[in-house]
Order: sequence, then structure tokens, then C-alpha cells
Amino acid sequence: MFLKRLTALSRSLAFRLTLWYAGIFALSSCLAFVFFYYLVIDVLREQTDDNLRRQLAAFSGIMQVDGITGVQQVAAMDALSGGDKKRLIRLLSRFGTQFSVGGRDYWQDVGVNAEAIRDLLTSGAPVIETVVLGERKDSLRIIYGVIGPGVIMQLGHSLAEEIRLINAFQRLFLTTIGIFCLLAAAIGWFLARRALSGVGGIAAAARKISGGDLQTRAPISGRQDEIDQLAGTLNHMLDRIQTLVRGIGEMSDNIAHDLKSPVTRIRGLAEITLTTAQTDDDYQNMAANTIEECDRLLEMINAMLFISRTEAGVREVRPEAVDLNALVGDAVQLFETTAVDKHLALSFEAGPHARIRGDARMLQRMIANLLDNAIRYTPAGGQVTVTLHGAANDRVQVDFSDTGIGIAEDDRERIFERFYRCDPSRSESGSGLGLSLARAVARAHGGDITVKSTLGEGSIFSVRLPLVPDSQIEKDLSSTGK
Ligand code: ADP
Repeated sequence: MFLKRLTALSRSLAFRLTLWYAGIFALSSCLAFVFFYYLVIDVLREQTDDNLRRQLAAFSGIMQVDGITGVQQVAAMDALSGGDKKRLIRLLSRFGTQFSVGGRDYWQDVGVNAEAIRDLLTSGAPVIETVVLGERKDSLRIIYGVIGPGVIMQLGHSLAEEIRLINAFQRLFLTTIGIFCLLAAAIGWFLARRALSGVGGIAAAARKISGGDLQTRAPISGRQDEIDQLAGTLNHMLDRIQTLVRGIGEMSDNIAHDLKSPVTRIRGLAEITLTTAQTDDDYQNMAANTIEECDRLLEMINAMLFISRTEAGVREVRPEAVDLNALVGDAVQLFETTAVDKHLALSFEAGPHARIRGDARMLQRMIANLLDNAIRYTPAGGQVTVTLHGAANDRVQVDFSDTGIGIAEDDRERIFERFYRCDPSRSESGSGLGLSLARAVARAHGGDITVKSTLGEGSIFSVRLPLVPDSQIEKDLSSTGK
């Protein structure tokens, strides 16, 4: 169990971020340490070398004034005053043979570097080297210099102090870096957890949603950071999905309902005919009614297919040059009898020349649906007017206005959904597919339909379609062979 949690933790993004944070911190600290370490060593060596050069110059001065005896006296005094362990002082001949030593010579195991003497005699400049005494864990910085005619001084300085200093620096650094790395890991863990806390919330919400709870939303912290933006986008998407799912549910309910009624009617009719029919006429009646119901069903199914295909772009819009004035005028003429039967005034106000490129049959269905609605939803004595407006912004507009029952604000956008019908008590019998079909046609032609309405006063459905210059239409039609 514990091992499982540990493995899960080691795989978490927060853990990996922490590791990166602490790792980068440790690496940069180590680089800084290496830099300072070599800087300190360099400074200390410079200092030691300067001291050695100064002392060599001092001995050279004593040599000039008091000769070798003076030098030997100073070296002996230096050894007595406790410098024996600190300093090595030897006088050598130009062949490297030693002829005088300061003090008890604590450094007797340190030899004379013949090569350094050779270099010194060739260049004339003092030669400096470091001698490491492994057994004694000590080191010596040695300078070889000529302090008088034929007299070479080998002057050494113990590096014990410097080594102690560097060791202390190392210890201090390692302890500090250890503490800082732990601190960096703790801060990194805190920051990573804080930054990713929203992700956990989103993941938990997503788990709930995939479990079927479509109401859940990802939490928004209010920090307005990237995680909040992600949660916001996700929630927006979920709202859309929920609306779509609800819409699909409603649509399947409506389809089921609309299919059920005619099928039930057909079945009832068949059952009654079977049990009560006595003459051939009864059977003929049943057959005629069945055909009528089937036609209605087929019409509905075809309308559904037509909308789906048009919306999906599967149904091709056959490009023809369509004179909208003529098309709308013909449709108005066709509906005149219906309008008269309903005691309505139906009028058409033609507009200026408006040729568009489109599919005349599809456009006819769209116009017929809008006219049919305007007449159906306008009570007797009302007025239905179809107006074709001049082209504005390369668009032609056809308004279908009526003085009918109007549409409530809440319903106005939804009436274009498939199978949506407003309050059943106000709606005439219909499939609820008319407006979605009309909008699908308008959109397939690069246009759209909008509605303005006041409840109880009437509605205006406006179809806007792109107007194409005649020359362009001719060109397109000739290229498609029409
Ligand atoms: P239906 O076959 O029910 O008419 P539509 O898609 O054509 O289906 O219309 C959807 C709903 O919009 C109708 O049920 C009706 O309530 C409302 N509607 C459509 N046109 C009008 C109109 N001109 N005036 C008032 N209500 C309308």
C-alpha cells in the first residue's frame, strides 16, 4: 500500500517538478562553489607567492649589507621565534648543494629541485613550486632565488593554514548546500502543488463527468491563471455538450412521439377494419388512409434527411441562376387560395432585379415553409406580406411578415431547432421541421434566416442571401456546363 502510494507520488508531475527544481538549484550551487573554490585557492596562492618574493627580497638586502652571516642569524632567529614549522630557509650553492639551514630544519625530508635551480640560473628570475608531503599531510610553497653572488636561497612556506581554511570553506559549503537543497525541495514541492492544485480539481471533475454526472463543473480558483482559463474553457465546452445532449434527448423524444402517432393510427385503423369491415369499400378506405399516413411519415423522414444532408453539406446545392422576384412571386400566387380560405390578405412587394446563384427547388421549399407558417399562425382578418428588399452589402433580403400570434422571446432561437414547437396550445399541427429546413437551405446558400417578433402582434422572418453579379453567375454556370 505504502509502496504503491510512493510509486504514484514519484510519477506525479509535482514530484518531478520538485526534483527538477532541487536538481537545478543543486547544480547551480555546485558550479558557484567550484568557481569560488578556485578563486579562493588562486587568491591564497597569489598572497603566499607575494610574501615569498618579499621575504626573498628582504634576505637579499640583508645579504648585501651583512653577508651570509647576517642571513644565517636572521634565519636562526626566525626558527627560534617559532617559524621553524612555518618556514623552510636554506642557503644553496649554485650547484644546488646545501651549505646552511635555518633552525632545526623541520623540513629535512624536502629535497632540492635541481630543475628549479637550472631554470633559476638560466632565467635569473625566482622560481616557485609546490611540494606536497603526502605522509605528513602537509604542503610547502617554495621559492628559489639568487640573494648574492653564487648564493641561492630556498625559501619555503607551509600551506597548512591555507589548507585548513580551504577545508573549512568546503565543510561550510557542503552543510549550507545540503540545507539549501532541502529548503529548495520543500519550496519547489509547495510551489508545484500550488500551481497544480487546479489540475487535480479538473481531473476530479472530469472523473465525475465520465462517470455520467454531466452537471459537474471544473472548479475555478479566481486567480485567472492558465489553469483557470483551462477550467473555464472546459466548463464552457461542458455547457455546450450538456445543451446538445439535452437537445438530442428532446429530439429523439419528439421523433419517437411523431413516429408513434401515425403508426398507432395505422394500426388502429387496420384493427378496426379487420374486426368490423364488411364491404370492399371499407378495405379500400383503410388502404387509402394508410397511404395518406405513410405519405405523412415519408414526408417527415425525407425532411429530416434533407436537413441532415443539407447541414452536413452532403446534399449538393445545384448552381442555377435564380430570379428571386419570380421565385417568390410564384410561391405567393400558389398560396393565395389558402390565404383566401383563411380570410387573410396576402401581398407581395417585389424588389429590384435580384438574381442569385442557387438551387431553385431547395429555395422553393424554404419560401413555401415560411409562407405556410405565416398563414397558419395568423388568425382570420390578418395580413401576410412578403417583401423583397434591394441589395445591401451584396445581399438580398426577403421579409415574410405577418400580423399573427407572434413568438415569445424564449422560443425565438429555439424555433429553428429540429422538432421544436412552441407552446402546443398555440401551435398548429406540424412536424416542427419547417424552420430548421428553411434555415438549413439558407445557410447552404451562404445566407441565413433571422426572426423579429412581438407576442400577439406578429412576426417578421428575414431571409438574407448573397447576391452574385450576373457576369459571375454566367461564368460559373458555363464552367459547370449548365
Ligand atoms: P411547425 O411545423 O410546427 O410549424 P416550424 O419549424 O415551421 O414547425 O416552426 C416551429 C414553431 O415556430 C412552430 O411550432 C410555431 O410555434 C412557431 N412559428 C413558426 N412560424 C411562426 C409564425 N410566423 N408566427 C408564430 N409562430 C411561428
